Amino acid sequence: MTIIVPFCGRITPRERQESLESINACLNNIRVMPFEDLTDGERRTARMAVVANPDPADLSDLPMLEWVQSLWAGVERLVEEMPNPAIRIVRMTDPQLALTMSEAVLAWTLYLHRDMPLYREQQTKARWCQHPLVLPQDRPVGILGTGNLGRAAAHKLRENGFPVTGWSRTPWATADIPMTYGPSGLEALLRQSAIVVVLLPLTPQTRGLLDDWRFGQMREGASLINFARGPIIDQAALGRALDRGHLSHAVLDVFEREPLPKDDWLWSHPKVTVLPHISAPTQTGTASQLVARNLQAFYDQDVIPACVQRDVGY
Ligand code: NAP
Repeated sequence: MTIIVPFCGRITPRERQESLESINACLNNIRVMPFEDLTDGERRTARMAVVANPDPADLSDLPMLEWVQSLWAGVERLVEEMPNPAIRIVRMTDPQLALTMSEAVLAWTLYLHRDMPLYREQQTKARWCQHPLVLPQDRPVGILGTGNLGRAAAHKLRENGFPVTGWSRTPWATADIPMTYGPSGLEALLRQSAIVVVLLPLTPQTRGLLDDWRFGQMREGASLINFARGPIIDQAALGRALDRGHLSHAVLDVFEREPLPKDDWLWSHPKVTVLPHISAPTQTGTASQLVARNLQAFYDQDVIPACVQRDVGY
Protein backbone atom coordinates (compact mmCIF):
# COMPACT_ATOMS: atom_id res chain seq x y z
CA MET A 1 0.00 0.00 0.00
CA THR A 2 1.25 3.49 -0.87
CA ILE A 3 1.43 6.06 1.95
CA ILE A 4 0.21 9.48 0.86
CA VAL A 5 2.04 12.53 2.28
CA PRO A 6 0.58 16.01 1.77
CA PHE A 7 2.68 18.79 0.28
CA CYS A 8 1.56 22.19 1.62
CA GLY A 9 3.28 25.12 -0.02
CA ARG A 10 2.69 28.58 -1.36
CA ILE A 11 5.42 28.53 -3.98
CA THR A 12 5.32 28.84 -7.77
CA PRO A 13 3.69 25.95 -9.70
CA ARG A 14 7.04 25.26 -11.38
CA GLU A 15 8.90 25.06 -8.04
CA ARG A 16 6.18 22.81 -6.68
CA GLN A 17 6.24 20.45 -9.63
CA GLU A 18 10.05 20.24 -9.58
CA SER A 19 10.10 19.48 -5.85
CA LEU A 20 7.34 16.86 -6.04
CA GLU A 21 8.90 15.06 -8.99
CA SER A 22 12.32 15.12 -7.43
CA ILE A 23 11.22 13.91 -3.95
CA ASN A 24 8.90 11.21 -5.34
CA ALA A 25 11.68 9.89 -7.55
CA CYS A 26 13.63 8.97 -4.36
CA LEU A 27 10.76 7.27 -2.48
CA ASN A 28 9.45 3.69 -2.18
CA ASN A 29 5.80 3.09 -1.19
CA ILE A 30 5.41 6.74 -0.20
CA ARG A 31 4.00 9.43 -2.46
CA VAL A 32 4.05 13.17 -1.76
CA MET A 33 1.01 14.87 -3.29
CA PRO A 34 -0.35 18.42 -3.35
CA PHE A 35 -2.62 19.07 -0.35
CA GLU A 36 -5.38 20.15 -2.75
CA ASP A 37 -5.40 16.73 -4.45
CA LEU A 38 -5.83 14.71 -1.25
CA THR A 39 -9.13 13.04 -0.31
CA ASP A 40 -10.71 13.83 3.07
CA GLY A 41 -9.58 10.41 4.30
CA GLU A 42 -5.98 11.04 3.23
CA ARG A 43 -6.00 14.38 5.03
CA ARG A 44 -7.49 12.82 8.17
CA THR A 45 -4.77 10.17 8.42
CA ALA A 46 -1.65 12.12 7.34
CA ARG A 47 0.99 11.94 10.10
CA MET A 48 3.49 14.28 8.48
CA ALA A 49 3.63 16.86 5.69
CA VAL A 50 6.28 18.37 3.46
CA VAL A 51 6.00 22.17 3.59
CA ALA A 52 7.34 25.32 1.92
CA ASN A 53 5.63 28.46 3.20
CA PRO A 54 2.41 26.53 3.94
CA ASP A 55 -1.00 28.05 4.47
CA PRO A 56 -1.63 27.48 8.23
CA ALA A 57 -5.29 26.70 7.39
CA ASP A 58 -4.15 23.68 5.35
CA LEU A 59 -2.07 22.40 8.26
CA SER A 60 -4.99 22.68 10.66
CA ASP A 61 -6.90 20.44 8.25
CA LEU A 62 -4.48 17.58 9.06
CA PRO A 63 -5.67 16.38 12.51
CA MET A 64 -3.10 13.56 12.91
CA LEU A 65 -0.08 15.70 11.99
CA GLU A 66 2.99 14.89 14.12
CA TRP A 67 5.70 16.77 12.25
CA VAL A 68 6.47 18.76 9.14
CA GLN A 69 9.53 18.68 6.92
CA SER A 70 10.37 22.18 5.67
CA LEU A 71 12.11 22.62 2.32
CA TRP A 72 13.74 25.75 3.72
CA ALA A 73 16.41 26.37 6.36
CA GLY A 74 14.77 29.48 7.85
CA VAL A 75 11.66 28.53 9.84
CA GLU A 76 10.70 31.68 11.75
CA ARG A 77 7.40 31.95 9.90
CA LEU A 78 6.52 28.30 10.51
CA VAL A 79 7.34 28.64 14.21
CA GLU A 80 5.04 31.67 14.38
CA GLU A 81 2.21 30.33 12.26
CA MET A 82 2.00 26.65 13.16
CA PRO A 83 -1.32 26.26 14.90
CA ASN A 84 -0.19 23.59 17.34
CA PRO A 85 3.16 23.79 19.16
CA ALA A 86 3.08 20.00 19.64
CA ILE A 87 3.69 19.55 15.91
CA ARG A 88 7.41 19.21 15.39
CA ILE A 89 9.28 21.14 12.73
CA VAL A 90 12.21 19.67 10.83
CA ARG A 91 14.08 22.24 8.77
CA MET A 92 16.36 21.94 5.74
CA THR A 93 19.91 21.05 6.78
CA ASP A 94 21.32 20.08 3.39
CA PRO A 95 25.16 20.08 3.38
CA GLN A 96 24.97 21.38 -0.22
CA LEU A 97 23.09 24.42 1.07
CA ALA A 98 25.92 25.09 3.52
CA LEU A 99 28.48 24.77 0.72
CA THR A 100 26.51 27.14 -1.48
CA MET A 101 26.23 29.65 1.35
CA SER A 102 29.94 29.40 2.13
CA GLU A 103 30.70 30.15 -1.52
CA ALA A 104 28.43 33.22 -1.37
CA VAL A 105 30.06 34.43 1.84
CA LEU A 106 33.51 34.03 0.28
CA ALA A 107 32.44 35.78 -2.94
CA TRP A 108 31.00 38.84 -1.21
CA THR A 109 33.76 38.97 1.38
CA LEU A 110 36.25 39.16 -1.52
CA TYR A 111 34.07 41.84 -3.12
CA LEU A 112 34.48 43.98 -0.01
CA HIS A 113 38.05 42.91 0.69
CA ARG A 114 39.27 43.86 -2.82
CA ASP A 115 37.40 47.21 -2.70
CA MET A 116 35.15 46.39 -5.65
CA PRO A 117 32.41 48.90 -4.65
CA LEU A 118 35.06 51.64 -4.49
CA TYR A 119 36.67 50.81 -7.86
CA ARG A 120 33.23 50.50 -9.48
CA GLU A 121 32.37 53.96 -8.18
CA GLN A 122 35.69 55.39 -9.40
CA GLN A 123 34.99 53.98 -12.86
CA THR A 124 31.68 55.88 -13.07
CA LYS A 125 33.80 59.06 -12.67
CA ALA A 126 36.68 57.90 -14.94
CA ARG A 127 38.90 58.25 -11.87
CA TRP A 128 42.28 56.42 -11.87
CA CYS A 129 43.27 56.00 -8.23
CA GLN A 130 45.06 53.05 -6.60
CA HIS A 131 44.39 52.21 -2.96
CA PRO A 132 46.73 50.23 -0.70
CA LEU A 133 46.24 46.48 -0.83
CA VAL A 134 45.23 44.83 2.44
CA LEU A 135 46.17 41.17 2.86
CA PRO A 136 43.46 38.68 3.91
CA GLN A 137 45.32 37.94 7.15
CA ASP A 138 44.87 41.62 8.09
CA ARG A 139 41.12 41.58 7.40
CA PRO A 140 39.41 39.87 10.37
CA VAL A 141 35.92 38.57 9.69
CA GLY A 142 33.28 38.03 12.38
CA ILE A 143 30.47 35.55 11.80
CA LEU A 144 27.26 35.95 13.80
CA GLY A 145 25.73 32.48 13.97
CA THR A 146 27.96 29.45 13.57
CA GLY A 147 25.38 26.78 12.80
CA ASN A 148 25.27 24.71 9.61
CA LEU A 149 25.81 27.72 7.37
CA GLY A 150 28.03 29.87 9.57
CA ARG A 151 30.45 27.03 10.28
CA ALA A 152 30.84 26.19 6.57
CA ALA A 153 31.39 29.89 5.81
CA ALA A 154 33.96 30.18 8.60
CA HIS A 155 35.97 27.27 7.21
CA LYS A 156 35.81 28.61 3.64
CA LEU A 157 37.06 32.02 4.78
CA ARG A 158 39.87 30.49 6.81
CA GLU A 159 40.96 28.40 3.82
CA ASN A 160 41.28 31.70 1.96
CA GLY A 161 43.46 33.33 4.58
CA PHE A 162 40.96 35.41 6.58
CA PRO A 163 41.13 35.29 10.39
CA VAL A 164 37.61 34.35 11.53
CA THR A 165 35.83 34.71 14.87
CA GLY A 166 32.35 33.28 15.49
CA TRP A 167 29.49 34.19 17.81
CA SER A 168 26.82 31.73 18.87
CA ARG A 169 24.26 31.27 21.62
CA THR A 170 25.71 28.21 23.33
CA PRO A 171 29.42 27.47 23.84
CA TRP A 172 30.75 25.36 21.02
CA ALA A 173 34.20 23.83 21.23
CA THR A 174 36.30 24.10 18.13
CA ALA A 175 40.01 24.03 17.69
CA ASP A 176 40.21 26.24 14.63
CA ILE A 177 37.62 29.03 15.04
CA PRO A 178 37.82 31.35 18.06
CA MET A 179 34.29 31.68 19.46
CA THR A 180 32.52 34.34 21.52
CA TYR A 181 29.20 34.26 23.37
CA GLY A 182 26.71 36.61 24.99
CA PRO A 183 26.55 40.41 24.80
CA SER A 184 30.20 40.94 25.77
CA GLY A 185 31.32 38.37 23.18
CA LEU A 186 29.26 40.14 20.54
CA GLU A 187 30.77 43.49 21.46
CA ALA A 188 34.31 42.09 21.25
CA LEU A 189 33.58 40.52 17.85
CA LEU A 190 32.05 43.74 16.49
CA ARG A 191 34.98 45.85 17.71
CA GLN A 192 37.61 43.65 16.08
CA SER A 193 35.98 42.64 12.76
CA ALA A 194 36.60 44.45 9.48
CA ILE A 195 33.72 42.49 7.93
CA VAL A 196 30.74 41.15 9.89
CA VAL A 197 28.69 38.36 8.32
CA VAL A 198 25.19 37.67 9.70
CA LEU A 199 24.06 34.03 9.56
CA LEU A 200 21.69 33.94 12.54
CA PRO A 201 18.13 32.64 12.55
CA LEU A 202 15.38 35.23 13.07
CA THR A 203 14.07 34.76 16.62
CA PRO A 204 12.69 37.12 19.28
CA GLN A 205 16.29 37.42 20.55
CA THR A 206 17.89 38.26 17.19
CA ARG A 207 15.16 40.57 15.81
CA GLY A 208 16.63 44.08 15.68
CA LEU A 209 19.92 42.81 17.15
CA LEU A 210 22.05 45.12 15.00
CA ASP A 211 20.78 48.56 15.96
CA ASP A 212 22.36 52.01 16.48
CA TRP A 213 24.13 50.78 19.61
CA ARG A 214 25.62 47.70 17.95
CA PHE A 215 26.59 49.55 14.77
CA GLY A 216 28.36 52.04 17.06
CA GLN A 217 30.38 49.15 18.49
CA MET A 218 31.55 48.11 15.02
CA ARG A 219 35.00 49.10 13.93
CA GLU A 220 35.31 52.40 12.03
CA GLY A 221 35.13 51.64 8.29
CA ALA A 222 33.87 48.06 8.75
CA SER A 223 31.43 46.40 6.35
CA LEU A 224 28.42 44.19 6.83
CA ILE A 225 27.04 41.17 4.98
CA ASN A 226 23.52 40.01 5.88
CA PHE A 227 22.62 36.65 4.33
CA ALA A 228 20.27 35.57 7.15
CA ARG A 229 17.00 37.51 7.61
CA GLY A 230 16.22 41.21 7.10
CA PRO A 231 14.66 42.05 10.49
CA ILE A 232 17.84 41.04 12.34
CA ILE A 233 19.10 44.44 11.21
CA ASP A 234 17.48 47.77 12.01
CA GLN A 235 17.57 49.14 8.44
CA ALA A 236 17.18 52.78 9.51
CA ALA A 237 20.06 52.42 11.98
CA LEU A 238 22.18 50.87 9.22
CA GLY A 239 21.42 53.88 7.01
CA ARG A 240 22.57 56.22 9.77
CA ALA A 241 25.82 54.26 10.30
CA LEU A 242 26.57 54.31 6.55
CA ASP A 243 25.67 57.98 6.12
CA ARG A 244 27.88 59.19 8.92
CA GLY A 245 30.75 57.16 7.43
CA HIS A 246 31.11 54.83 10.39
CA LEU A 247 30.43 51.80 8.18
CA SER A 248 31.84 51.51 4.64
CA HIS A 249 29.43 49.20 2.89
CA ALA A 250 26.61 46.70 3.37
CA VAL A 251 25.83 43.69 1.17
CA LEU A 252 22.22 42.73 1.82
CA ASP A 253 20.48 39.64 0.47
CA VAL A 254 17.50 39.74 2.83
CA PHE A 255 15.14 42.53 3.87
CA GLU A 256 12.30 43.44 6.20
CA ARG A 257 10.02 43.34 3.14
CA GLU A 258 10.68 41.05 0.18
CA PRO A 259 10.71 41.75 -2.68
CA LEU A 260 12.35 45.00 -1.61
CA PRO A 261 9.85 47.77 -2.57
CA LYS A 262 10.91 49.72 -5.66
CA ASP A 263 11.01 53.02 -3.74
CA ASP A 264 13.16 51.70 -0.85
CA TRP A 265 16.21 53.89 -0.15
CA LEU A 266 18.45 50.82 -0.08
CA TRP A 267 18.22 50.36 -3.87
CA SER A 268 20.02 53.62 -4.65
CA HIS A 269 22.31 54.02 -1.65
CA PRO A 270 25.92 54.15 -2.94
CA LYS A 271 27.18 52.14 0.03
CA VAL A 272 24.64 49.33 -0.27
CA THR A 273 24.69 46.28 -2.56
CA VAL A 274 21.21 44.78 -2.91
CA LEU A 275 20.81 41.09 -3.77
CA PRO A 276 17.38 39.47 -4.34
CA HIS A 277 17.62 36.70 -1.67
CA ILE A 278 19.91 34.52 -3.76
CA SER A 279 22.85 33.72 -1.49
CA ALA A 280 21.82 30.10 -0.88
CA PRO A 281 18.64 28.85 -2.55
CA THR A 282 17.47 25.33 -1.69
CA GLN A 283 18.99 22.91 -4.22
CA THR A 284 16.12 20.72 -5.38
CA GLY A 285 18.24 17.62 -6.14
CA THR A 286 20.14 17.28 -2.88
CA ALA A 287 17.31 18.70 -0.75
CA SER A 288 14.87 16.14 -2.21
CA GLN A 289 17.21 13.27 -1.37
CA LEU A 290 17.41 14.51 2.22
CA VAL A 291 13.62 14.91 2.48
CA ALA A 292 13.07 11.44 1.00
CA ARG A 293 15.55 9.91 3.48
CA ASN A 294 13.72 11.57 6.38
CA LEU A 295 10.31 10.38 5.16
CA GLN A 296 11.52 6.86 4.54
CA ALA A 297 13.14 6.70 8.02
CA PHE A 298 9.88 7.86 9.62
CA TYR A 299 7.62 5.40 7.84
CA ASP A 300 10.08 2.46 7.87
CA GLN A 301 11.64 2.92 11.34
CA ASP A 302 9.42 5.47 13.15
CA VAL A 303 12.30 7.95 13.42
CA ILE A 304 11.70 11.72 13.38
CA PRO A 305 14.86 13.73 12.55
CA ALA A 306 16.27 16.47 14.81
CA CYS A 307 13.63 19.18 15.27
CA VAL A 308 13.49 22.91 15.74
CA GLN A 309 13.56 23.84 19.43
CA ARG A 310 10.28 25.71 19.74
CA ASP A 311 11.34 27.48 22.97
CA VAL A 312 14.37 29.15 21.33
CA GLY A 313 12.75 29.51 17.89
CA TYR A 314 15.26 27.73 15.64
P1 NAP B 1 21.47 26.93 12.48
O1 NAP B 1 22.23 25.72 12.09
O2 NAP B 1 20.27 26.79 13.35
O3 NAP B 1 22.50 27.93 13.17
C1 NAP B 1 22.09 29.11 13.82
C2 NAP B 1 23.28 29.70 14.54
O4 NAP B 1 22.87 30.95 15.14
C3 NAP B 1 23.78 28.81 15.69
O5 NAP B 1 25.19 28.93 15.79
C4 NAP B 1 23.12 29.45 16.91
O6 NAP B 1 23.81 29.27 18.13
C5 NAP B 1 23.18 30.91 16.54
N1 NAP B 1 22.20 31.68 17.31
C6 NAP B 1 20.86 31.53 17.33
N2 NAP B 1 20.29 32.42 18.18
C7 NAP B 1 21.32 33.14 18.71
C8 NAP B 1 21.40 34.18 19.67
N3 NAP B 1 20.30 34.68 20.27
N4 NAP B 1 22.63 34.66 20.00
C9 NAP B 1 23.74 34.15 19.42
N5 NAP B 1 23.74 33.15 18.50
C10 NAP B 1 22.54 32.65 18.16
O7 NAP B 1 20.97 27.74 11.18
P2 NAP B 1 21.60 27.70 9.72
O8 NAP B 1 21.13 26.50 8.99
O9 NAP B 1 23.06 27.96 9.83
O10 NAP B 1 20.84 28.95 9.06
C11 NAP B 1 20.95 30.27 9.60
C12 NAP B 1 19.92 31.16 8.94
O11 NAP B 1 20.31 31.46 7.60
C13 NAP B 1 18.54 30.53 8.76
O12 NAP B 1 17.78 30.62 9.95
C14 NAP B 1 17.94 31.32 7.64
O13 NAP B 1 17.18 32.40 8.16
C15 NAP B 1 19.15 31.89 6.90
N6 NAP B 1 19.23 31.39 5.50
C16 NAP B 1 19.31 32.30 4.49
C17 NAP B 1 19.40 31.87 3.18
C18 NAP B 1 19.50 32.86 2.04
O14 NAP B 1 19.43 32.46 0.88
N7 NAP B 1 19.70 34.13 2.29
C19 NAP B 1 19.43 30.50 2.89
C20 NAP B 1 19.35 29.60 3.94
C21 NAP B 1 19.25 30.06 5.25
P3 NAP B 1 24.01 27.79 18.76
O15 NAP B 1 25.09 27.15 17.93
O16 NAP B 1 24.46 28.07 20.14
O17 NAP B 1 22.69 27.10 18.66
